[in-house]
This record gives sequence, C-alpha cells and structure tokens, in this order.
Amino acid sequence: MKIDLGPSIPIQQLSKAIHKTPEEIENSLRGRGKVLRAGDGLKVDQAIWIAEQEGFRVRILSRGKEEALSIEPEKKSLIQPRPPVVTVMGHVDHGKTVLLDAIRHTNLASQEPGAITQHIGAYKIHLPGGDIVFLDTPGHEAFAAMRARGAQLTDIVVLVVAADEGVKPQTIEAVQHAQAARVPIIVAVNKIDKPQANPARVREELAQYGLIPEEWQGETIYVDISAKYHQNLDKLLEMILLLSEMMELKADQSRAARGTVLESRIDPQLGPTATVLVQDGTLRIRDFFVCGQTFGRVRLMMNEWGKRMETAPPSTPVQISSFSQVPRAGDPFLVISGEKEARKLADLIGRQEQGAKRLRPRPTTLEEVQREIRKEAIPELPIVLKVDVYGSLQPIVQSLQSLAIPGARITIIHSGVGAISESDVLLASATSERGIIIGFNVKPDSKAELLARQERVDIRLYSVIYDLINEVSRLAQGLVIPRYREEIIGRGEVIRVFHIPKVGVVAGCLVQEGKFVKGRQGRVIRRGIIIHTGEIVSLKHYDQFVDEIGQGKTCGLMLSRGFTRYQVKDQVEVFIREELPKGGEE
Ligand code: GDP
Repeated sequence: MKIDLGPSIPIQQLSKAIHKTPEEIENSLRGRGKVLRAGDGLKVDQAIWIAEQEGFRVRILSRGKEEALSIEPEKKSLIQPRPPVVTVMGHVDHGKTVLLDAIRHTNLASQEPGAITQHIGAYKIHLPGGDIVFLDTPGHEAFAAMRARGAQLTDIVVLVVAADEGVKPQTIEAVQHAQAARVPIIVAVNKIDKPQANPARVREELAQYGLIPEEWQGETIYVDISAKYHQNLDKLLEMILLLSEMMELKADQSRAARGTVLESRIDPQLGPTATVLVQDGTLRIRDFFVCGQTFGRVRLMMNEWGKRMETAPPSTPVQISSFSQVPRAGDPFLVISGEKEARKLADLIGRQEQGAKRLRPRPTTLEEVQREIRKEAIPELPIVLKVDVYGSLQPIVQSLQSLAIPGARITIIHSGVGAISESDVLLASATSERGIIIGFNVKPDSKAELLARQERVDIRLYSVIYDLINEVSRLAQGLVIPRYREEIIGRGEVIRVFHIPKVGVVAGCLVQEGKFVKGRQGRVIRRGIIIHTGEIVSLKHYDQFVDEIGQGKTCGLMLSRGFTRYQVKDQVEVFIREELPKGGEE
C-alpha cells in the first residue's frame, strides 16, 4: 500500500496500511511516552517505526517532488529474544552509581584485555545466562526526559533503596515514574553490610506503593545487596535475566536497524557524534541512516570499550560519528536504503517539525485542551502534585482521590514535597498532553518554569486547599461532555451535632448566607477540604420538617449517603448543578 507524504501522516491511513485500529496505534505510541492529540498526524519516522514494528517493510518512493511511503508485509524475519535494557533509579546517595560501576567492573574480566570503559551513556554486560544493557545515567530525570520526547527505552527499572535509610522522597518519585511508564521494577535493597540495615522495613514501606514482595505472595522481586562489597550482585543480575525472560522481549535481527539517540556531542576529532541504542534490527557499518533532522552514513562504529564494530544487533549501545548535524537525545534513528532517501527523509522530517510547531502548538491552557478533547471512554486528568510539607500531602491526596466526578477521572501520577522541579514538568508532559502540575504553597524553580513554558505544561499554584480541590474538580468536570455549571445557593456552619436514636446523626446548622433547600446537593467542608457531598434528605426547623430555610436561621440537616462524621465548625455549602447543553461553553 502507498501513503503520500504530506505535512503529516494521518493515523487513519497508517492504520489501514498495517491492518491495525487507530486505537492500537495510539496505544503503541502511548507506551513510548508522549501521547497524540485528536486529529494529530504522525511524523514520517514515527510512521515507519510503527509499521516496521508490526512486521511491514517500508520504502520511500519519490517521483520528482512527490514522495510516498510504500508499506508491504515483510516476508523474511528472524525474531529472537533480545537483551533487556535496564535503568537504575532511586534516592540520592542510596548507591546507584556504585552499583552501576560494580556491575561494569565485575564484568570487565570477560571483555577484551586492555579495554578501557568509556562513558557513552550505556553499557552491555555478558553473562552465561544472557546479556543485559544498563543505561548509564542513573536517576529518573533522564528517564522522564526520554519519555517526554516519546522515546521509551527501558524494559526494567532497578530501584536502589539503602537498607539503612529506607524509602525516601526520590524513591517514591522513581516508583511513580516507572509505574507511569508501566515498566516493571526490581528492588535492590542496598547497603546490607551496614549494621543499621533493615531490609524488612524497606519491603514494608514499598509494599504501600504496590511493590509487594514475592515472599509475601506479591509480584515484585527484591534482592538484598551490597554494591560496595559486591555482595549478591550475581543474584540481582540473575533476577533481571529471569524477569526479562518472562517479559519475552523480542527483536528481529534481519531488519534494517532502528534505534534511539541516548547522548550526543561534538567530538573535536570526529565531529557530531552520538550514542545510539539499537533497539531492533542490525546496524552495519556503511548503512545510511536518518536521525531526526540529521542523516549520514555509518563510517565508524564503536562499542562502550572503544572497540570498533562491524555490526550491532538489537539492544546494543554504539557510538557513531558522521552525522550531518548533532542529533538530539531521544531522536529516533532509522537505517534507510540509500543516501538520497536519507537526505530526503531528514529534510521532510525537518519540514514536518517546523510545520507541527507552526500549526499545532501544545495548547497553552487547560481550557484549550478541554476544547480538544474528544469522546474518550473516561477522560482523565493526570496531575503532578507538589506541596510544602508532609502534613498537607495526605489530606490533599485523599480529598483529590475522593472527588467523585461522574464521567471523568483524576489520576495523581506523582505527589511529593518540595519545589516544582524539571523532573515534575517532564513527568507531566510525558504522561499526557493534558498533564498539569498543581503546587500547594510551593513554586517552580527557575529551570522548571522555563521548561514548563517550552513543554507548555500548565502549572497552577494554590495556598488554600479548598481552592485547589475546587479548581481541580472544575477542571476535571470540564473534561466531561456534557459539562455542568454549579451555583452555590447557601452557606452555613455546623454549630451542634445531635445523635438521635433510630434517626442517626443530625447536623445543627446556622444558615449564614442564602438558603438551604431540601433535595439540593450539600457539601461538608472541614479546614478547606470537602469531606462529603450528598443530597439534603431532611431539613428541620425546631420540630417542623421544612423544604427551605433562609439566612440567619438554624436547622437540623441530614445529607444522603449516610454521612455521620459532622463536627462543630464544619462549613456546609448548598449548590445546584446544572447540565449545560451539549457543546455549550462555560
Ligand atoms: P547515588 O547518589 O545513588 O549514585 O549514590 P552513590 O553510588 O554515589 O553512593 C553514595 C554513598 O553510599 C557512597 O559514599 C558509597 O560509597 C556508599 N555506598 C554505596 N553502596 C554501598 C553499600 O553497599 N554499602 C555501604 N556501606 N556503602 C555504600
């Protein structure tokens, strides 16, 4: 089948060519990180990548100025297991660097004599049970940065937690990054040589984040290690191989190579140089390639030990020079049949990127995003939440989680204490076009602010919990089609709580503003947090049941859904929710 190449490739067209539904294509993209918005087209390199992953052979046809992709089922294939790609994450000082060094050096003996390890962003080790690739930039910033560019490289995350310190804020951040990317985690409980080490506590703490140890009938592998004294490292590596076997990671060695740029720089001797992780196919010396807006031909290819290579099979990091310009980390790398095609494609990708920037900037505000939302099954509002102190974290998370918005879902992809960082921005941006950051009594640091502007991530800051919850609720409701409009018709305060036998708990309220009306919705707010919302099922003025009660009067109030936990000084708000006509704007 032939697809004409224009400013972008409609998903519909690709979906026909490779016999997949548009949803399947979107899911495949989502797995790599960045998500497309409705109506977005694919870039040509994305389209080629997806088609080839699905077992098609893609060629570029050009006739004069017209260019097209030919997409045909691939006959020859050599699908084989491939080594896993591992990222090491965890809190600062818990031993990530020492672990990466220890693994590299224990494996040194099996390398060429005299080999000197170079820092190229990744290295591969060889074990009797198989090979493993480690990405050499520990920490979740690098991980999130790649995902924000739509490049997910990691198959397995090794989470390093120091047994003497236990779970720390960045440990949790790392867990949330891995979980958001749906990458399985192996926990390396480090520093077990220390007398204060308490590996059991690490298990207990992490179990709260869903990492239930296998020994407790969970699914997460824990290995107790000492990176410093090389204790149990073989066990850790064995577990990585075991998990990778279960994941059935596969690649096709017979294809033209496909990969992603890990790092790039200008080498004084070699010129533009990059480390590329070959993910599928085999990269050969003299192959032509396109990589983002750059292209070139592989003239010199070296491994992480500085040794020249002729071929690089799937899951191999290689250092390549001879790019026309310096590519960017995260750029896809595709081998192309000839120089003319590579040059054309690089030019086309460049034009598509310019066009995309001009035509469809990431929407600046959530309101704009809302306008773009199509009818998803349940639209989702992904939130990164940062607060000033631990004390406020739990209540905010809980009230956000208990916000019940019919037809929409709020997902807290990450929550933590401290200023809004670049990592937060990247996580929000990588998770969804709609990802927003909510700060409570915190601000973004200057780098994060700049990045948020570049990535067009909406940051919203609050200092009153009630405002925060209200606003998030409003934003999430904005995702719902049809939308609702809310009008507050009464406000009051609980002045006494009555426990009446056979009836239940009644809130004695003073109506301070407007009126309370039976049958309308009421919400109970305590210290700025909505703790219950329900219909007013009973309203009593002294001994009389009434339908309405006005300002300055007292009443006995009961809300639906059996709420009993009223306290004196709780605020009560009575409101009307109106459904707006379909397509209506607020
Ligand atoms: P990173 O910030 O996570 O990369 O942490 P590092 O790898 O730099 O390690 C931080 C500190 O912990 C260093 O002083 C290491 O020597 C020490 N360390 C790392 N692993 C171990 C270990 O297994 N046992 C002990 N006792 N110390 C360790």
